[in-house]
Amino acid sequence: MTIAEAAKHLAARDFTATELAAAHNDAIAALNPRLNAYITTTPELALTQAKAADARIAAGTAQPLTGIPLAIKDLFCTAGVRTTAASKILAPFIPPYESHVTQNLLDAGVVYLGKANLDEFAMGSSNITSGYGPVENPWKRAGSDAKLVPGGSSGGSAAAVAARLAMGATGTDTGGSIRQPAAFTGIAGIKPTYGRCSRFGIIAFASSLDQAGPMARTVEDCAILLGAMAGFDARDSTSANRPVPDYRAAVTRGVKGLAIGIPAEYRMDGMSPEIAALWDKGISWLRDQGAEIIDISLPHTKYGLAVYYIVAPAEASSNLARYDGVRFGARVHGEDLIDMYERTRAAGFGAEVKRRIMIGTYVLSAGYYDAYYLRAQKIRALILRDFTDAFTRVDAILTPTAPSAAFGLGEKMDDPVTMYLNDVFTVPAPLAGVPAMSIPAGLNAEGLPLGLQIIGRHFDEETVFAVAGALEHAAGFTAKPALRAA
Ligand code: GLN
Repeated sequence: MTIAEAAKHLAARDFTATELAAAHNDAIAALNPRLNAYITTTPELALTQAKAADARIAAGTAQPLTGIPLAIKDLFCTAGVRTTAASKILAPFIPPYESHVTQNLLDAGVVYLGKANLDEFAMGSSNITSGYGPVENPWKRAGSDAKLVPGGSSGGSAAAVAARLAMGATGTDTGGSIRQPAAFTGIAGIKPTYGRCSRFGIIAFASSLDQAGPMARTVEDCAILLGAMAGFDARDSTSANRPVPDYRAAVTRGVKGLAIGIPAEYRMDGMSPEIAALWDKGISWLRDQGAEIIDISLPHTKYGLAVYYIVAPAEASSNLARYDGVRFGARVHGEDLIDMYERTRAAGFGAEVKRRIMIGTYVLSAGYYDAYYLRAQKIRALILRDFTDAFTRVDAILTPTAPSAAFGLGEKMDDPVTMYLNDVFTVPAPLAGVPAMSIPAGLNAEGLPLGLQIIGRHFDEETVFAVAGALEHAAGFTAKPALRAA
């Protein structure tokens, strides 16, 4: 059932929000021990919030999200509910305040099922770096029992939605963390324009890239969720003071007369033929519905990964300096202050987070700043210019979301660079600040979902939703993972 359908049933009193929450609590109790999609579950809070939603429905003041049970990525601060960022360093952290985005959702009447697992501090593409154990993708390769990753970093959110352990979820995307896990689990997810959703109360990774966005089983559900999550907030100086359009209406707008760009640089050497074929299918689906297809060039795409893996660690090294055992979370006592900092950070951070802090500190240090960080900033400007040039000719851009389907737990772990290559198609959009969405478009030969990505102009999520809606309609993706407890 989709969020839109559930809202209709709730309004028609076919079932109550309390029953919907209880059904989800039961599904989580049965399946979460296998999937580990949630770090913290909040079954009692869910029932309390559902009761309030039922009262609101009875009073006739319900909104489309009233009574809808969601998973909240454990990077959003939730007042009174433990928030870990999947790091041991924040294991005892209970925020005294609520993030702006989740407060907006609470105001709309949603129900919290729990806090979804992620890569530690959102650094990763597989959920393997979580300090609370990896998430398992509910999908399996045909005829194989091998455990697969759900992607990352919003892998818990993605697995929960795909496995029907939540009707939708919040995610965050710095270099692909909404779109790549959405693609790996056969769901939809959108990273909106930088500034569309407030970052207040979202634990920071790389502040010039981080954006919150929704993950759900349909494009329409994502539109409903984003409509509630987005909006101006004076507490985030990069929050955009612009009206939030009716995203839901945009989903069925159609693509007639739209110009869709196909960037040559995304057709990489060694791209899997299945993914190339799916991309071609996407192109013909849009052409058949009246879009004009235009070949474009985004010449600086090839520098995207290198730029991202300088800028993101640089910002992370600064943002993560605050976890020193003094103000937040865990503390390991030492001989003196410096020793306490060192012991706390050594015990609290995992290997990937330490790697990023060291890379970030290195590229920002005197002597290397000009060679790495400054240079990366300059190329970032050129990547943005690629997009603004392209958007003078096209209304949206179509690409694959990821270079492969979900891979096995434990694969790609020997060399961090192999893992970073996952993000090749997703990092350019956040570097440019433009919105981008992944939708499930088909299955590969092994029965695993593959995603297509739609990139739009700054603040034009409506066109992204229109193209996504058209693709979703043509793809008719109805496959589901088999939901076994073990
Ligand atoms: N996979 C990317 C990384 O490891 C992106 C993560 C994200 O978007 N938060 O940094």
